[in-house]
Amino acid sequence: MTEDFDLAVIGGGILGLAHALAAARSGRRVVVLDRDARANGASARMSGLVSVAGHAPGAAARRAKRSRDVWGEVCAQAGVRIDHEGLAIVARRPEAGGMLAAYAATEPAPGCVFYEPEDAHALFPQFRGEIAGVFWSPDEIRIEAKSALPKIAAWLEDAHGVAFRWETAVTAVEDGGLATSRGRIRAKCIVVCPGDDLRSLYGERLSGLGLTRAKSQMMRVRYEESFELPGAVSTDLSAARMQALQDVPGADALRARLEAEQPEHLQHGVVMLAAQSADGSLVVGASRTLDATPDPFLLQTVDDLILDELAAVFGKRPKQIISRWAGTYAYSADRPVVVEAPEAHVRVVIAASGFGASAAFAIGEETVADLFGQA
Ligand SMILES: Cc1cc2nc3c(=O)[nH]c(=O)nc-3n(C[C@H](O)[C@H](O)[C@H](O)COP(=O)(O)OP(=O)(O)OC[C@H]3O[C@@H](n4cnc5c(N)ncnc54)[C@H](O)[C@@H]3O)c2cc1C
Repeated sequence: MTEDFDLAVIGGGILGLAHALAAARSGRRVVVLDRDARANGASARMSGLVSVAGHAPGAAARRAKRSRDVWGEVCAQAGVRIDHEGLAIVARRPEAGGMLAAYAATEPAPGCVFYEPEDAHALFPQFRGEIAGVFWSPDEIRIEAKSALPKIAAWLEDAHGVAFRWETAVTAVEDGGLATSRGRIRAKCIVVCPGDDLRSLYGERLSGLGLTRAKSQMMRVRYEESFELPGAVSTDLSAARMQALQDVPGADALRARLEAEQPEHLQHGVVMLAAQSADGSLVVGASRTLDATPDPFLLQTVDDLILDELAAVFGKRPKQIISRWAGTYAYSADRPVVVEAPEAHVRVVIAASGFGASAAFAIGEETVADLFGQA
């Protein structure tokens, strides 16, 4: 049986759903296909932070801001709970404090504030020990990815008439449509959002683009006493990685101190990002190791590095580790978004960074406007 659509989207992760939304909003008949029974790739495993601050000025910062706005609309309409808003970056060292204070005062960081230690301790009693201040960005939101993705898919189906074909592997993009494990689908335009499957479709083309795969370890933990995070929480390790902070005064000095004081964290690509779920538990991560075929092993060493950084902020380690998991995502050192146009009516779109979900909705709008020739 064949079916006719204006747009077929391969991949039911957040990037695929973002493309489906953009096309459906402009009146197109859309189908989304995924080989799994539900989203189970990076989008279902992520921390769930929609990040706004710290992106490179220009396209990346614009995408983050636009996507954040659409995330807000989608959450409200699809019934996705926003667990908390804002991001606190705890400066553990004066070098990080100086960088974050300088960034907070710039035009690309509207609404962001840097609190000196005294104010920071008063405002954020959760943070124990010596700190050099806290950077606060008000715009970030945190969602529970595992439950949010199915809700967004159901809303796209119900409110926007998007068709879904789960458990359907796409084996080839052909003239006029797709070959799938369940027969042919006819579509005028096609967007491939394969996540970190860089081989199955257009593998030869993707192999020359410097893309690889990143593996990231995560945990869900619980502290003995309950407390409420002010928003998502991270530290110097994240500040050192933020694109917008690469050139601010103090960046080299912070990198040098981290190399001397936390070499193992750098070796395993560990940053500490803590977010809080509705039941009070914390989702904490993350590491980043690059490999064309990431190994399947969860390393205790990596968990310990993440937990050490958590303890440095909250004064102690959590009482319980509820679960551990790893996820993989596409990664490029210099191209956070890869868009290829192998044919006039086909786009291959890959979010190649650890913050792909944050940019997804803007990327979807850009691709759909390009494919359908909109302004
Ligand atoms: C542990 C972890 C934490 C992260 N934390 C954050 C965060 O807090 N904030 C943030 O913004 N980003 C975060 N990221 C990154 C983010 O998750 C990814 O950038 C984003 O989810 C990528 O979305 P995607 O739809 O491109 O890929 P995926 O979610 O991997 O989806 C790709 C889908 O395509 C399907 N597919 C592929 N090929 C085919 C085919 N031939 N036929 C049918 N189906 C196919 C797969 O089954 C899969 O469902 C994190 C990533 C990880 C792993």
